[in-house]
Amino acid sequence: SRQVQLVARPSGEPRETDFRVVETAVPDLEPDQILVRNRWMSVDPYMRGRMNDAESYIPPFALDAPLDGGAVGRVVASTSERFAEGDTVLHGLGWRDVAVLDARGARAVDPDAAPEPAYLGILGMPGLTAYAGLLDVAGLQEGDVVFVSGAAGAVGSIAGQIAKLRGHRVIGSAGSAEKVAYLVGKLGFDAAFNYRDGDITALLAGAAPDGIDVYFDNVGAEHLEAAIACMNDHGRIAMCGAVAGYNSPDGTCAPRNLALAIGKRLTLRGFLVTDHGRRMRDYVQEMAAWLKDGRVAWRETVVDGLDAAPRAFIGLLRGENTGKMLVRLDAP
Ligand code: NDP
Repeated sequence: SRQVQLVARPSGEPRETDFRVVETAVPDLEPDQILVRNRWMSVDPYMRGRMNDAESYIPPFALDAPLDGGAVGRVVASTSERFAEGDTVLHGLGWRDVAVLDARGARAVDPDAAPEPAYLGILGMPGLTAYAGLLDVAGLQEGDVVFVSGAAGAVGSIAGQIAKLRGHRVIGSAGSAEKVAYLVGKLGFDAAFNYRDGDITALLAGAAPDGIDVYFDNVGAEHLEAAIACMNDHGRIAMCGAVAGYNSPDGTCAPRNLALAIGKRLTLRGFLVTDHGRRMRDYVQEMAAWLKDGRVAWRETVVDGLDAAPRAFIGLLRGENTGKMLVRLDAP
């Protein structure tokens, strides 16, 4: 089998030479394990943090060892009562074509109910992140004007659409004119801007003349500053990610105008989707109905083959994706 290993901790933007693809033997199954042939794997921004040798909420990747992350595959052998050959499972051992894992580390998914990659995106972790972040962390209330950054990405595109479906005015930002056109033309955002077009505070103020009440932050840094500047009193910020700083050596995303939060009585709340697993059932139920009625648009950017996985990950941090960035491992 083949796996992608981290061979050097990236400094700044990761390079393909920080990774290598290695052939390894498949271990024999122990009791209550499954052998999975992966078909799809996810690359996610949080993986960049795990490439640094730094303490965090999740341990760093080890050097000269396989990376891991979300994957969907088919069970090809099982010593567990819970899974049979042919089952489709979601699990955490991506970055390899074949995975051996304890059965309790996998969850069965129904490939007839939704396409396999949906379980890594719209019906999976990114979707739940958007849902929990908006509803439970930002406490979305009737009448709120919502701003979403990273709005053409996996989490942001879902967050914006959930807010729209609940009747809010929604403003988005993204890094290209094509993405801005997608937000307004396809996802139904009320307004959107390309953050490379000028001063972000001025761009946001132009798109939100009455200010904003909720900010779903995927980016940090100048985006967070702009949101604080444009927030109405008692505004709420769900701090989901700070991708603008992930490749910078000190990872800083500090807004220079944080003191404005005092007079405006703002709430800034960080959150991790892993604390919101109990909401998955509500989310999937609500999202499945929206998808069935054609009320939600969803895209994936697909890169083919395990060898291209490092490139997909590097591209993700450069904004080469619209919607969820995925690697297809079992190309037909
Ligand atoms: P995306 O699909 O949004 O991909 C990342 C995007 O980041 C790129 O497409 C790019 O879009 C954008 N980007 C890269 N550099 C910059 C920059 N300097 N300034 C602004 N935008 C930039 O990824 P996800 O949807 O998976 O994740 C979005 C955010 O949510 C990330 O910050 C991630 O860490 C966070 N997250 C947090 C979770 C939690 O539990 N708290 C769970 C899941 C995700 P563009 O072309 O617009 O620049």
